Amino acid sequence: MQETPPLAYTDFLYRSHGEIREIQNQRFRHQVALCFRAHPYYQDVFSRLKLKPADFQSIEDVQKLPVTTKQDMLRDPEAFRLIPQSDFLPQERILWDVSYTTGTTTGIPVPFFNTTHDFFATLEALQRFCLFLGDTANDTVVNLYPLTLFPHLTLRIPASLMALGASVVSPLTDTSTLTSSGQRSLDEAVRMIERHQGTVLIGMASYIRRLLMRAEQLGADFSRVRLVQPAGEPCPAGTREEMRRRLLRLGANPHDLAIKIGFGCTELQAAMGECVELSGSHHLTPDQSYLEVLDEQSHTPLPDGTPGLFVITHLDRRGTVVLRYATGDLTAISHQVCPQCGRQDRASSAIPCASLNACCSTAPCSIPTSSRRPSLLSRASKSTRSSSPGSREAILLPPIVCWCASPRRKPSRSEYERT
Ligand SMILES: [Zn+2]
Repeated sequence: MQETPPLAYTDFLYRSHGEIREIQNQRFRHQVALCFRAHPYYQDVFSRLKLKPADFQSIEDVQKLPVTTKQDMLRDPEAFRLIPQSDFLPQERILWDVSYTTGTTTGIPVPFFNTTHDFFATLEALQRFCLFLGDTANDTVVNLYPLTLFPHLTLRIPASLMALGASVVSPLTDTSTLTSSGQRSLDEAVRMIERHQGTVLIGMASYIRRLLMRAEQLGADFSRVRLVQPAGEPCPAGTREEMRRRLLRLGANPHDLAIKIGFGCTELQAAMGECVELSGSHHLTPDQSYLEVLDEQSHTPLPDGTPGLFVITHLDRRGTVVLRYATGDLTAISHQVCPQCGRQDRASSAIPCASLNACCSTAPCSIPTSSRRPSLLSRASKSTRSSSPGSREAILLPPIVCWCASPRRKPSRSEYERT
């Protein structure tokens, strides 16, 4: 197989709909050809449906394939893994590492195999994400994500920030399930932000919120913080405003402070983000994956703005590859040009309020009530009443209000520990 040439990020998302679609078509043909040769699960699907490589000429031909479910992958993750061929380039066939899904939907983390090619693609994707949200080489980013029991996408973000040139400080809090040698408390994390004059905070939304509450109690100085990137949990407008008020009381500059959410998932190996606060989230890697929203029953594509099954098709993967893979999320996307920044096509996946695992709108959710999962709402509320084993005292948080109760939600700290 031939390596596909890298794309310049600086102008890619501003290219025309047709240009982006042509890149997707070319990469889709390449991806499907690889599956025909070296991915057993899809070899079986192609054989069963009597499909040939020539049946896949444009990205619309993905509709010839059935939806792949999490259960399909759970049954045999190795069937989705590349069988290396002698003519593949080393970077395409060498295993770099294995990521795992969080197991939120199925209860069991699923291995996701990454070759060297895949690892570099993820670095590229997350570097786009960080640049997009406003990170710069001059920033000191405080990484408030916890260490998990299994390699996870959030561990990639610090590497991407360092590739960008930023300084990264990792307190490594909430590691209660691991050896205590590397664990720091909530208070120590607050003091590290002060000591290193952190300018950007990244981490789970509820943890950042709790840290800001504790920082106020300690009278900390966060005057250098200018950007907060919560992820992994709902962070609606009210929560952001509360964070903003606390940051201002901690000394942040009101004229230079933004709180922009990001979200991603293992299967995407990328993260989406907002161009401006509450704008909806952009799909920043249309060259790496093609997104669809399908009717839950018929699996037919739904029009823009209509919530349905969120489905991913890889366009440039080597290790684990999925085609038409339903993540278990409900979401809505748009192909319209973003009114905020003018980005094109899939890049303008302005999601009104129900996005992967994050609620980002002030408006009520457009997902029908019948499609929501109230149990997750109550679980989300419970998860906010928590204390860090590394902190000296428990803090009772008011409940986070999520309008949409998105079916997929990254686990809380306690859920990480159980997994
Ligand atoms: Zn935009």
